[in-house]
Amino acid sequence: DNLRRQVEKWIKDDSVPVIVFSKTTCPFCTKVKALFEEQKILANVIELNTVPNGSQIQDALLAITGQKTVPSVFVKGQHIGGCDATMKLHSEGQLMPLIQGGSARPASKRQSSPSGKDEPRQPRGSELPWTPNASAPSEQQSKVPPMDGSKQANQIKFVPTDKYDYDLVVIGGGSGGLATSKEAAKLGAKVAVFDYVQPTPIGTKWGLGGTCVNVGCIPKKLMHQAALLRGYYDDAKKFGWQMSEENPQHDWNKMVEAIQDYIHGLNWKYKVALRDMNVTYLNSYAKFTDDHTLVATNAKGKESTVTAERFIIATGGRPRYPDIPGGKQFCITSDDIFSLAYPPGKTLVVGASYVALECGGFLKKLGFDVTVMVRSILLRGFDQDMAERIGAYMEKENGVKFIRGATPTKVEQIEEGLPGRLKVTWEMNGQESWDEYNTVLFAVGRNACTTNIGLEKIGVKINPKSGKLVTENEQTSVEHVYAIGDVLDGKPELTPVAIAAGILLARRLYGGSNDTYDYNMIPTTVFTPIEYGAIGYAEEMAMEKFGKENIETYHTLYRPLEWAVPGHAEDQCYGKLVCNKLDDDRVVGFHVLGPNAGEITQGYAVAMRMGAKKRDFDATTGIHPTASEIFTTLTTTKSSGAALGQAGC
Ligand code: FAD
Ligand code: NDP
Repeated sequence: DNLRRQVEKWIKDDSVPVIVFSKTTCPFCTKVKALFEEQKILANVIELNTVPNGSQIQDALLAITGQKTVPSVFVKGQHIGGCDATMKLHSEGQLMPLIQGGSARPASKRQSSPSGKDEPRQPRGSELPWTPNASAPSEQQSKVPPMDGSKQANQIKFVPTDKYDYDLVVIGGGSGGLATSKEAAKLGAKVAVFDYVQPTPIGTKWGLGGTCVNVGCIPKKLMHQAALLRGYYDDAKKFGWQMSEENPQHDWNKMVEAIQDYIHGLNWKYKVALRDMNVTYLNSYAKFTDDHTLVATNAKGKESTVTAERFIIATGGRPRYPDIPGGKQFCITSDDIFSLAYPPGKTLVVGASYVALECGGFLKKLGFDVTVMVRSILLRGFDQDMAERIGAYMEKENGVKFIRGATPTKVEQIEEGLPGRLKVTWEMNGQESWDEYNTVLFAVGRNACTTNIGLEKIGVKINPKSGKLVTENEQTSVEHVYAIGDVLDGKPELTPVAIAAGILLARRLYGGSNDTYDYNMIPTTVFTPIEYGAIGYAEEMAMEKFGKENIETYHTLYRPLEWAVPGHAEDQCYGKLVCNKLDDDRVVGFHVLGPNAGEITQGYAVAMRMGAKKRDFDATTGIHPTASEIFTTLTTTKSSGAALGQAGC
C-alpha cells in the first residue's frame, strides 16, 4: 500500500510533465524515450529493471492502471498507455498540447501497450528498497544506491516533495531516531532530525545520540568494565603478576574524563554521519502545532517552523523522580552519574531494576559504600530465581547493602559540597528510619517524553497509564505519524530494538518493503557485577503460560575455568533452559548468570529465534573450555530435585 501510494504520488506530481516507467532492455521503451528526447520533453524515467523493487512497482502500476507491461507513460498525471498509444497520440498531434497543458485526452486502461511484446516481468524475490530521490530535476541519475551496495540505479530522476519542507521529520536523535533518519535518507527521502537535550535539575546535558550513547548503555558498560578490572587485578596476582598495590585506588575523575572523551567523539561522528547522509540536523526542541507543522525552539529561545509529510516520534524517555521533599533538589539520576564531576562517595541507590542494580554494582566495585533500596522485588519482569541469585552475589561477593521493602519519604541536606551530606528518611513496614549518604541516585523508572510535544494538537493516542504511544507496526493513531524506541507502549526499552524497528519502518515508508519488526525472543543482559543474560520466558512466566506440569527446566551451577585458579566460589554462576514439554521440549527460556553473559546470550539468541529444542542444544558441540558450553551438556532437571553439582571438566 505504501509503495502504491508512492507511485501515485509520482504520477500526480506535476513539476515534471511526463513520467515513463520503463526497462532498459525493452525496445518499445527505447522508442518512447527517444520520442520524448527528440521532442525535448522533460521526462522522468524510472527503469524498473535497475531499481531494487522494480517488480513491486510494476505490480503497483498494474493495480493503478490495469496495464501490466512497460513502457507505461503518464502525462500530467494521466495514464496514456504503452508505446503504441503514445506514438498514436503523437502522430495525431495530441501529445504536445496535452503536455503543454492543452486539451486532455482521458487516460484509458484499454488503449494500453503492446501486450505480450514487451519484455517479460522481472521475477519477485530478493528485491531491495529504492527511493524517490530528492535531486534536482536536471540531474539524470539517482544518488541512491540499492541497499545491498551494488551498482547504482541509473537513469532515474525523481521529483522532490515540494509541498512540505521535508518528506520526513524525525523528532529525537537517539538510537532509534538516528538509525531511522539515515535509512530514510539513504532511500532518497528528504529528512530532518531534531535533537534537543533538556538539562537535568542539576544542569547536566549532553550531545547528539540520545540516551544510549550519552547516559545509558555506553557509559554504563564502560563503568562496568572499570569495575570488573578491579576484580581482574586481584585475580592477576593469583596468576603470578606482581602487583605492588595491596589496595589499589580508583581515580573517578580520570575514568569520567576518559569515558566522556570517548562519548564526545561519538557525538561528533553522529553529526558527520548525518551530514554525509544528507540528513538535516536541527539542535532544537520540536513540538507539533498542526498536523504537518512543528515549531522548533533552539537553546537561545529562537523559534522556527518546519513542515513535513510524515513524522517519526523518537523522543525516548527521561528518569523519573519520586515525588518527595528534596527529591529533585538534592538527588541525581542515571542522567547525571556518568559525567559526575566528583566521586559520589557513600551512595544510596533507590530502585531495584536494570539501572539501579547496574549502577549500584559498578559503584561498589569502584570502591564506594553502596546501599540499594528495594521497594518490592529485584528485577520485576525477569526470572525471579535469577534475580535473587544476582542479589545474593552482589550482597555476598561485592558487599552491596540492600534495604528491602522500603521507600524513601524525604531527603534533606545536612552539608553542602561535592558531594555534600544528605539525610534520607524512609518508610519500612510502617516504621520510619534514616541514614546519611553523600549521594542519592534515583533509578525508579523512566517517563516517556510524550507530554510536551503537542501530540494533543494532532490527536495521537497515548496510553494514559504508561504515558506511551499506542502503535501498530510503529504507526500511531494518526496515519502520517509514526513512533519508535522507548516511547512505544508495551515494547522493550532497548537500543537494538529501537534501531532495528526504525530501520524496518524507514524501509516500509520509502523502500517498498513490507517487513515488520518481530518483538519476540529479544535477548537482553543486565550488566550487574555478575552479568545476567536472558532470552524468552522467565521460568515462572513459562509455567503460567504453558502450565506448570508442561514445563521442564534443565539447569546447572558452573564455575568458569578462569575462576578456578583465583579460587572464586563454585556456586555463583548458573545456567538454565526452560523447555515446553508440550512442544517437543522447545526451549522457551534461556538464562545465564556469569562473566560475559551478554556475549554468551547473543549467540544463543539465534537458536532461540529459530525455535531450537533441547535436543538441538544437546546435539551442538561445545567449545572447550568455555562457560558457554554448559548449555550443550545440561542433564539435571529441576523436577528430579537432584542436587546441583558444579559443571566443568
Ligand atoms: P533516546 O535514545 O532516549 O533518544 C531520544 C532523543 O530525543 C534524546 O536525545 C532527547 O533529548 C530527544 N528529544 C526528546 N524530546 C525532544 C523534542 N521534543 N525535540 C527534540 N529532541 C527531543 N539498552 C540496551 O539495549 N542495552 C543497555 O545496556 C542499556 N543500558 C542502559 C542504561 C541506562 C542507564 C539507561 C537509562 C538506558 C539503557 N538502555 C540500554 C536503554 C537504551 O538506552 C534506550 O532503550 C534507547 O536509548 C532508546 O532509544 P530512543 O531512540 O527511543 O530514545
Ligand atoms: P524500571 O521501570 O525497569 O524499574 C523501576 C524500578 O524502580 C523498579 O525496581 C521499581 O520497583 C522501582 N520503583 C519505582 N518507583 C519507586 C519508588 N517510588 N520508590 C522506590 N522504588 C521505586 O526502570 P529502570 O530505570 O531500571 O530501567 C528502565 C529501562 O531501561 C529498562 O526497562 C530497560 O529496558 C532499559 N535498560 C536496559 C539496560 C540493559 O539492557 N542492560 C540497562 C538499564 C536500563 P517495583 O518493582 O516495586 O515497581
